[in-house]
Amino acid sequence: MLEVCNLYKSYGTLEVLKGINFSAQKGETLTIMGPSGCGKSTTIRCINRLTEPDSGHIIYKGKDILRLHKPELLKIRQDIGFVFQGFNLINRLTVFDNIMLALMKQDLSKEEVKKRVRKSLDQVHLRDFADSYPQDLSGGQKQRVGIARSLALKSSLMLLDEPTAALDPILVREVLEVLESITSTQDKSIIIVTHEIDFAYKVSDRILLMDQGRIVERGDPEKVFTEPTSKIGKKYKELFE
Ligand code: ADP
Ligand code: MG
Repeated sequence: MLEVCNLYKSYGTLEVLKGINFSAQKGETLTIMGPSGCGKSTTIRCINRLTEPDSGHIIYKGKDILRLHKPELLKIRQDIGFVFQGFNLINRLTVFDNIMLALMKQDLSKEEVKKRVRKSLDQVHLRDFADSYPQDLSGGQKQRVGIARSLALKSSLMLLDEPTAALDPILVREVLEVLESITSTQDKSIIIVTHEIDFAYKVSDRILLMDQGRIVERGDPEKVFTEPTSKIGKKYKELFE
């Protein structure tokens, strides 16, 4: 489904990604963890080129995303859902319209669009909030709208960058519950950046642990959290115990 090869990225003299390699299979949930500033967001944003890497390959469904021209890139972005830490909702639009907007570039009938918006709202348990505005929602509800927007695309790959980072602890749980049900019921590939260790342990098929622009541990959660070999991996093991 997705193969990331030899990804390098610098900001000026700051080398942020120093050769990132990993792949994601169909239906797989992959979690990227690691200390702040280690390059998690840069990695995930490079996948759909919200950030342009300096070199490498990102093969998605047989095509190298980094070699695509703008029209093709815009098309492939419709097949990759992205959920942001800060929700990125449009305040003057209702919940329904926020989700509908994401579908405008797809060639769908009006009926199909409405059906998809309603279904995605059901999936995040916000059926009754279609006509609400973002300002009337809690942070957890806003993020569930962000997730619904991504689900409505019916993309085969969904990227989430710290989806619960902006939320109060009490609201984190409702978002993680929704994400847990999505990872267990959908056959899309999901890549999540998160600091929520227990959640990562529960939902991940594989975990990538990053440190200073490199992947220093990889494998199923059991392996990563119980037999780490790296310095940072050992710190995560302590947190997990
Ligand atoms: P993480 O998501 O793991 O916290 P990031 O990928 O956001 O890490 O950032 C990695 C490093 O790159 C950090 O040192 C950060 O300050 C730096 N960085 C990120 N984005 C930019 C940018 N647009 N310009 C300059 N430096 C950046
Ligand atoms: Mg980040």
